[in-house]
Amino acid sequence: MPTFKQLIHDATEQCMKIDLPEQTALTYLVELTQQQRVDLYMNMNLEVPKDVLEKFNAGLVRILNHEPMQHVLGYSWFYGYKFNVNSNVLIPRPETEELVSYILSRVDEMFPNQNITAVDIGTGSGAIAIAVANEEKHINMYATDISVEAIEVAKENAKINEAQVEFLVGDMLQPIIDKGIKVDVLISNPPYIPSKETLESSVVDYEPHVALFGGDDGLKFYRTIFENCKKIVKEKSFMAFEMGWDQRISMLNLVHEYLPNAEAEVLQDINGKDRMLFVYFK
Ligand code: SAM
Ligand code: GLN
Repeated sequence: MPTFKQLIHDATEQCMKIDLPEQTALTYLVELTQQQRVDLYMNMNLEVPKDVLEKFNAGLVRILNHEPMQHVLGYSWFYGYKFNVNSNVLIPRPETEELVSYILSRVDEMFPNQNITAVDIGTGSGAIAIAVANEEKHINMYATDISVEAIEVAKENAKINEAQVEFLVGDMLQPIIDKGIKVDVLISNPPYIPSKETLESSVVDYEPHVALFGGDDGLKFYRTIFENCKKIVKEKSFMAFEMGWDQRISMLNLVHEYLPNAEAEVLQDINGKDRMLFVYFK
């Protein structure tokens, strides 16, 4: 049997040959050993137990085939919480953790210690809704998705993370409009990739297209939301969106067109890319 150190070395070489990130093999092995409660860093020079080695090798074949590691593991981490994922939901992205953190700080500023209602439109794995609901107990949280399969995964994740979220299936704002719910905060990370854009195979071959593509210019879902949001947002409220790094001008133009009296702010992610749009009704 190889030692952990040799295993990481050899697997990393294979990953780098096909341009996977250098950390891939190590990250995968850290997850597998944590499941077995083995402290990898203290045991680098020990031989890898047979069962771990077999599991690692079987998963590595899939990873080398460009299948996302999170699918091989069956879960992903988001804002410190564990989320089950499968091919019916988008794997939650690190940029979206930044969106959650800005939402929490804006809630503190605009609604300090108040009980408020929020909705996450297109919740997928439930990542945003569950993280926000667990971090801010004053929020009464709803989440919607058009995909019944995604909502099943999201419900499972709410249970695992003991989050109080009410899930509804339906098209964009419709389930919230139908129930007559009014919200203080509207959140959405809708599909925003233009239909014709080419994506890496780990994304386009394994992640649901209903979670990725937002029409010809990628902006179709923002238009729908801006057009209808007044039916569900309260007079004093805000909306928080994730967006594509190159959509700043078109997004600000859309806000101006549909919501001329609102205040808009585009925020950058940790890589300095335009990534979030906040719209305030004060
Ligand atoms: N909120 C999750 C996150 O941030 O990781 C998932 C975001 S994913 C980019 C977009 C989600 O919108 C997918 O879960 C997809 O099923 C959902 N969706 C697509 N079209 C929709 C529609 N017409 N109405 C509601 N949800 C929709
Ligand atoms: N950030 C995702 C990607 O690059 C897309 C998410 C979205 O469309 N909202 O694959």
